Amino acid sequence: MRLIFLGPPGAGKGTQAARLSKHLHLMHVSTGDILRRAIAYETPIGMEAKAYMHKGELVPDEITDLLVRECLVRDGASKGFILDGYPRNLEQAKQLDESLDSVGVGLTKVIDFAIDPNIVVSRLSGRRTCPKCQTPYHGVSRPPLRDGFCDLDGSELEHRIDDKEETILRRLEVYQEQTEPLTSFYEERGLLTRVDAVGDADTVFDRLLKAVGK
Ligand code: AMP
Repeated sequence: MRLIFLGPPGAGKGTQAARLSKHLHLMHVSTGDILRRAIAYETPIGMEAKAYMHKGELVPDEITDLLVRECLVRDGASKGFILDGYPRNLEQAKQLDESLDSVGVGLTKVIDFAIDPNIVVSRLSGRRTCPKCQTPYHGVSRPPLRDGFCDLDGSELEHRIDDKEETILRRLEVYQEQTEPLTSFYEERGLLTRVDAVGDADTVFDRLLKAVGK
């Protein structure tokens, strides 16, 4: 199964991609996670991406196109994958087509996580993330067992710099301007399936399983 997860920031794509990839043994490619790791390790890509990410802007296409192509080639796209957060504009979608052609596979489905932007703002401003494994928590809807620390590896949780309200609003604008048009791009190809992303993670996961026919 070769899937793209589309949807605004805060729709729960990362949480659901982590669960579904485990459930179906798929590679989970999150460009946001890869870039955050690059920043943490102060690699040249991280240094270039940092300012864009902190402002809520997209990093240049050349960077994400290359990261995704490397994952698809290195880790074997034919074994199945979930692309979480890529593509984010039409140019990236076209570049992805080329990358998939070069490894000889096509897409199975594009899942669009549908959610009201107002819900997204409150989800993201209350989100705390593990800097090590990227697991997201929320004070109300998904509190960690020990306040302020990751359940999985004990790291101290952080408030992502781009989860501040003004940056969240910019990320939503960027999503509406650049990423949302991809829904019609994939709908025209008969690949798009919408999943209602409002509700707790278990409920959304059940809907997702139905949407991918599992
Ligand atoms: P995410 O974790 O998916 O919300 O991504 C966090 C940030 O990483 C985004 O706001 C962008 O700055 C950057 N980013 C992640 N994926 C992409 C992409 N495909 N194209 C451009 N920038 C990206």
